[in-house]
Amino acid sequence: MNEIILLKLGEVVLKGLNRHTFEDKLMSNIRRRLQHCGKFHVYSKQSTIYVEPQEDTCDMDAAYAACKQIFGVISVTRAKPCEKDKDAILACAKAYLDEQLRGAKSFKVETKRSDKKFPMNSMEISQYVGGLLHDVYPHLIVDVHDPELCVHVEVREKAAYVHGPAEPGAGGLPIGMGGKAVSLLSGGIDSPVSSFMIAKRGVQLEMVHFFSPPYTSQQAKEKVLELARQLTCWCGRMTVHVVPFTEIQEEIRRCCPEDHFTLIMRRFMMRLAVAVAKRTGCKALVTGECLGQVASQTMDALAVSDDACELPVLRPVIGMDKEEIIRISRRIGTFDTSILPYEDCCTVFTPRHPRTHPKLEEVREYEAALDVDGLMERALQAVERITVSMEG
Ligand code: ATP
Ligand code: MG
Repeated sequence: MNEIILLKLGEVVLKGLNRHTFEDKLMSNIRRRLQHCGKFHVYSKQSTIYVEPQEDTCDMDAAYAACKQIFGVISVTRAKPCEKDKDAILACAKAYLDEQLRGAKSFKVETKRSDKKFPMNSMEISQYVGGLLHDVYPHLIVDVHDPELCVHVEVREKAAYVHGPAEPGAGGLPIGMGGKAVSLLSGGIDSPVSSFMIAKRGVQLEMVHFFSPPYTSQQAKEKVLELARQLTCWCGRMTVHVVPFTEIQEEIRRCCPEDHFTLIMRRFMMRLAVAVAKRTGCKALVTGECLGQVASQTMDALAVSDDACELPVLRPVIGMDKEEIIRISRRIGTFDTSILPYEDCCTVFTPRHPRTHPKLEEVREYEAALDVDGLMERALQAVERITVSMEG
């Protein structure tokens, strides 16, 4: 019997949500994600999802790596099925975990038996397999409290399974369970992390990026598309709506006081993102804003942005320090791209002395000098939609 992958679901989640909807969504996400690793049979039983290769050509390493990036899964392990017989289980443990058993100093066997017809109970199986493994690997100390290696035996309906310690999965909820949102993706460190964090709560994302040629380069846009592509291994295939922002920025510069430039620009970003949300069935916006990080991220400034936005704005990194954000950024694989030195439209025409405590009435007054609707309409007409997936 070929090696398989076992995925465990979050129990807490299963209590709170409709279990079947959750599992069905998760399994369809898994099937889609594994399409490129070969043909797999994916099914669930007793809070475990089984991922079984159907051909010898299946790429198990790629499938295992992919399973660790699927939201809704709390732990992942490769396991070897065998016949439901005590000696078959023992032989399987020896053959499958030989290297780990040789390398460990202490071990224990832990058994779960969901097939109650099996003639031995969990304790008896553990004692039998553990005792005989100890004979074969006499250097091992039995440590039931804190073993270096735990050999897991699961006796289930179809077969018995042997595996070593499971690794943590991506956690969260299956993408699609939490509705859809528009994430404002810049080329920085924060917005890929905030996108990841909201996707982890089961939200499917549409990306919006504002670019201002010729002030921002083609390379800057490519960098953002690359970040989106890197996020697809967590968030799935997505569309990046690239919104031209040059005319809006030039008009703000021409008509509004310099110290209000960033604030008014951010209000346009919010309005345009809401317009994209309406076109695509999204119910919220996501940004990488962090309290106090820059002038436009004070409480007063955030209130001015929110005033231009009729949808909830989700800001998952609002209370995080830069180091914490960077740690996640490295873990999810976007950091190295984020630090490439290309300019963002936010860094074009930045005021020398931005207002940190703006007054909403004043901002609205300055904005009245602009043809907000006309600027919005022209920008929206010229949106370029680019689909990104793991393949490119
Ligand atoms: P980041 O690392 O995400 O760029 P930042 O600290 O540089 O964050 P700002 O540049 O002030 O912050 O932007 C705050 C948020 O506004 C970003 O996290 C992002 O959600 C959004 N944003 C900024 N610039 C753009 C852009 N060009 N296109 C889309 N969204 C943007
Ligand atoms: Mg930025």
